[in-house]
Parts: sequence; C-alpha cells; structure tokens
Amino acid sequence: MDLQGSCHCGQVKFTCISHTPVPYMLCYCSICRKLQGGSGSNINIMAVAESLRIIQGEQSIKNYVALPETRGPAKLDHDIDGSNDDETTKAKEGGQSQRSAKQRMVVTRKAGYDRKFCMTCGSYLWGFDSDYADNIYPFASAIDTDLPVPEVTYHIKLNSTTQWADPRNPVYRHANETTQCFFDDYPDSAIIDWHKKHGHYVD
Ligand SMILES: [Zn+2]
Ligand SMILES: [Zn+2]
Repeated sequence: MDLQGSCHCGQVKFTCISHTPVPYMLCYCSICRKLQGGSGSNINIMAVAESLRIIQGEQSIKNYVALPETRGPAKLDHDIDGSNDDETTKAKEGGQSQRSAKQRMVVTRKAGYDRKFCMTCGSYLWGFDSDYADNIYPFASAIDTDLPVPEVTYHIKLNSTTQWADPRNPVYRHANETTQCFFDDYPDSAIIDWHKKHGHYVD
C-alpha cells in the first residue's frame, strides 16, 4: 500500500510502501507516552525501509534517540533481562542489606532507536531501528493516506503505562471486549503475522 505522510506544518513530506498498514497496536510505554503527548499511547505501523522517499523538507528532519526505558526501584534484575550480576548474587548469598541499599532504576528495554521528527512543528514522523533495518515504523499520526481500520486492537507495554492512561480502566473499556487485547509487554504475534492472520497483508 502506498502511503503519504507529512508533518503538521507541512515542511516535511514523505512517501513509503507498507505491506502492514493497519494501525492496530497502541504502545503505552513511558517513551511513547511522553513523546506522543495527550492520549498516553502511540501507534506505529510498519513500512519498507528502502521504499522511503523524502519528498521535501529533509533539512527540517531531526533525530531523537530515547534513553533506555527504566523503572525503579529494582525488584530482581533477572526478572527483567535475564542478567544476574554480582549484586543479585550477593543478595542470594545473604548480602541483602547491600542490595537494598543499592536499589536502583533498572533498564527494562534498550529503546535506543531513531525517532525522526520535524524540528519546526515537532510532529513525529517515523522510527528506525538498525536491528530491524528492513523496516521503518511510521507514526500513524504522520500518515495522511486513509489507513485500514483494525477489527482488533492490541494495547502493549502496559507494564510501563501510568494509571490515568491505562486502557484497562473501566472508563476506557470498549463494550466489545473481545476486540481489545492487553499485553504487559510485547504482543503475542509479529506485525506481519497479525496482518496475515486478519487478512490485511498487502502484497
Ligand atoms: Zn513540521
Ligand atoms: Zn512505546
């Protein structure tokens, strides 16, 4: 599917091609919440990296690399990332006081990928992660082409939402709960697999 995108002030315009254009996945992580403002979440779609064409305004595009997402104080390090550093080992061996004295923020996600935005109006445009270099992740808000409407929405990274934004709050719950899927962390299926399962994959 051919997609056209732009920032709010109109300086930046771009096009890309997406096989997976359905905006079904809302991310509630602290980074998306802060960067995307009001709603407490952000929707990315996925497009083919090599199809990206910046039509105008390349000089207005800035890059932001978020610091890793953290939470704290630490519980058990190996709950988060499988690591088992000296501090944890000491705690297991009875060095509890040392550990609790050193309770600290723990990294819950590396998150260090590029987020492109317009330096004039601040609109976020797309994300890019060199670990997944075949794709870019346009913010659905930057896309001007009418996107398909999902029949199921995924609410992800609820382990770092904040209370007011939590979509599980009764006030936000849709009447038809079978269309709302909640995930503490990442979802149960890849973006491509979701599209194929729901008949939305675009060749
Ligand atoms: Zn702009
Ligand atoms: Zn996020």
